[in-house]
Amino acid sequence: MPISIAALDQVAVLDLQRTVGNRAVTAILEREKRKPGLKVQRAIGWKTDKAKGDVVSDEGYAWNAGQHEVGKIHRIPLQGLTQGLQQESATRKGKTESTMLAGLSPESAKGRAIVLVPEALKPNKPIEVLVHLHGYTESTGRPFAGLRALTPAAGKTKNKTLRALRQGIDKNDVAPVRDVALDRAEQQLEGSGYTQEMIVLPQGGLHSQFGKSGDTNFDSGAYVNEILTRLVAESVWDPAPARLPEVRVSMSGHSGAGATLSKMARESVNRQAGKDPGASSTLTGDLVLLDAINPGEGAAFKDWALMRLDQDLAALKGKSDADKLVYLRNAQKLRGYYSTGKGGGQYVTAYTTLQGAIDGWFKTNGAELGPWAGGLRANFVVDNPVPVSHEELMRGVAAGQEGAGKGSILDALKALHPAAIGSPAAYPPLPASAMPDSKPASKPVTKPAGKPAVKPGTHQPAPEATRQGRTPRRTRHSAKAAAPAKTRAEQIATAILLAKTGGQGQGKTKEEKQTAKEAAEKSVAADILKGTKKDVDTWFASFEPGATFLGLTIRASSAGEPPGVHHQLAVVLKAAEASLVKAGEKPADAALRLGVKDIAGLRVPKTPTGKTSGASMHCFGLAVDIDHDNNPFIGNADKPTKKKPEGGASIQIIAHASLLLGGAARDPLRAPPGINGHETDSKEDRKARAERADEQWKLLNADSVLVQQYLSMTSDQLDTAVADRLPALTAWQQLQTAEPVQDGKHKKKKKKKASHLPWVEHVSDPAWWRDQHERDIKQSGSGDFGRGTTSDAKKFGFMTLQEEVVKALVMAGLSWGGAYKGDKDIMHFDLRTGSIGGRPIV
Ligand SMILES: [Zn+2]
Repeated sequence: MPISIAALDQVAVLDLQRTVGNRAVTAILEREKRKPGLKVQRAIGWKTDKAKGDVVSDEGYAWNAGQHEVGKIHRIPLQGLTQGLQQESATRKGKTESTMLAGLSPESAKGRAIVLVPEALKPNKPIEVLVHLHGYTESTGRPFAGLRALTPAAGKTKNKTLRALRQGIDKNDVAPVRDVALDRAEQQLEGSGYTQEMIVLPQGGLHSQFGKSGDTNFDSGAYVNEILTRLVAESVWDPAPARLPEVRVSMSGHSGAGATLSKMARESVNRQAGKDPGASSTLTGDLVLLDAINPGEGAAFKDWALMRLDQDLAALKGKSDADKLVYLRNAQKLRGYYSTGKGGGQYVTAYTTLQGAIDGWFKTNGAELGPWAGGLRANFVVDNPVPVSHEELMRGVAAGQEGAGKGSILDALKALHPAAIGSPAAYPPLPASAMPDSKPASKPVTKPAGKPAVKPGTHQPAPEATRQGRTPRRTRHSAKAAAPAKTRAEQIATAILLAKTGGQGQGKTKEEKQTAKEAAEKSVAADILKGTKKDVDTWFASFEPGATFLGLTIRASSAGEPPGVHHQLAVVLKAAEASLVKAGEKPADAALRLGVKDIAGLRVPKTPTGKTSGASMHCFGLAVDIDHDNNPFIGNADKPTKKKPEGGASIQIIAHASLLLGGAARDPLRAPPGINGHETDSKEDRKARAERADEQWKLLNADSVLVQQYLSMTSDQLDTAVADRLPALTAWQQLQTAEPVQDGKHKKKKKKKASHLPWVEHVSDPAWWRDQHERDIKQSGSGDFGRGTTSDAKKFGFMTLQEEVVKALVMAGLSWGGAYKGDKDIMHFDLRTGSIGGRPIV
């Protein structure tokens, strides 16, 4: 009896996949009933049904009315599918909307898909299917309505950019389709040379709804199963295979498809944690994200990637080398691409953040993988900038450019099918950003320095159990796994070499990165020369690789760099330490008491985080970052922009938490308490700066506590809080919307636009709070709050640095990033009154 994949328990399917590999699952489960002698009527092509207002375009090449050959690829339109979108309407934010957009296409979306099948595909052999979901098509400002044929009038638009995107393949192609004309999916599939690979393109709603009831749930196994069944039934293959091909299903998506893909990623994580099945299926194959990590979706992809990495690590253990090579070739892979061309760039941070989390995993676990680390890392690459506009990301070249042999789809197909190699030495090496830490193990700390300050009645702290669903993270590696210790002289030599040649540049293209790298190296040498009249070698001769603070080694910022700081900073840290360690305490005891666990120091030449020129004080060994993960740099990834004046996750969460629980929305980027002068290294000036830093610490801490409380509230507690504070919320709202407000703390009374926060209008609406609170919890692991492997704003707020530590360090002569005028680099302290100057003393 045939069993459908959808009917099977997903866990059983996953178990089966682990046992027999990902390929071959469907075939074991489902066997096509053959009906000898029965001639099946072919139903390829979309059909017009005027009664329903549904017209399939017969203009131009009438792409969707029947099968077309594009090169050596069959382009097969199917309709009447019972999986995928089953309605003429869809839901968005609780509202119903049509799936039709007459300005772009006369064609319907319900139950339709385009299937790309290589001519040479052998259905009696295993195949791979990449299901690619299209992005939003909600207005005539989009080039196409998904896979639907464009209405000829739209192709003649006066908007040059759109007209270029809607260019048909030739002058007769007056009603072009996206996959052929814009994405070049067929051309890239053919170009890949993989003849056992199909691409399935489901047609979704205007806001990328691919779910049966017009939502963003998706069951990939059931969907592909139906597609294959239909292809056999429509006699696409002659002779027909005796049974359905064995299949491995991978997912891909552009832009708004991220909503569906992140649900599948979350479902995979939930299922792994033993939770009940949700409405979406899990990810069973690879995942390709094309500008598809939207706000609020990063955490699901991150959790999935880290879960996969944990599982891969576990799976590799105990395998023979030959089996490891095979395993890494067939394991689930993640591939990301983001546009940086015209109008692009909005997705950069989401992708670099995800890559950062992946590389953070390798820093912790890479040593355990040994020679296999590079191979596994190559399976998880999302930091792939493509210098085209958002809508051109799939084909990967700009309008009018030659596309042969190029394109993101092609690149992904190649990356997902790595060539067989003979030994792990052939893997690409781990990039510097993913090199395992080689610092000696710090003393185990039983409990991080949390701030238990809880206002009675506002909330109960979330129990540990809130994170029970997560696969346990491995802790940092102990010294025994690290490379043999280098001598002081060797480490100084390394510091000098890296300062001269090891620079890292930020930028969208290789060229920009190279230029920025050289600029950073020059900038370091120039600042040293300016400050000391000496060269780089002489400066680093006074570098102290063995420097410590509170008994903790000061680790390098990235692997490959030596530990320690410059002598000038080491002296200041010793002075601060002396003021922190109490009588009878050892420095390490003070570290435990103060909850200080991790200190990073030297960095290769690099522009300061969030800046575009100059060199960070870390590059001179004059800066330290303390407990990076839970003392974030706020306003770095989450900086407000014109398009997003409310800022990213961290800034929004702080504003919402402080408004609800503290009476007014506070902007973490606001200026700290004022200070006049006091910019020398005199004791009096340092004291004035320390007092100011202390005031600022109190302000940030108050908000950090509120953030921790806010994120820990249950929805019932939230409802109660909103109800209790409704008068205050309404009053605050009126204040915001009434007249231009003045920020009393500023000397220059700058007038702010009354409505600069787009969410102000909602704050008296309890339903909005409920939704927003949920969103805030979801996004609390993304943006600036999610940059570390142990970051957890729900548990720690956004600052674990204690008042005493900040005061002592500033009193000793350091500037604190938490007191910067705009962005707040809370983890960061540096010495600006030493030899290297030119930075404002704060
Ligand atoms: Zn720093």
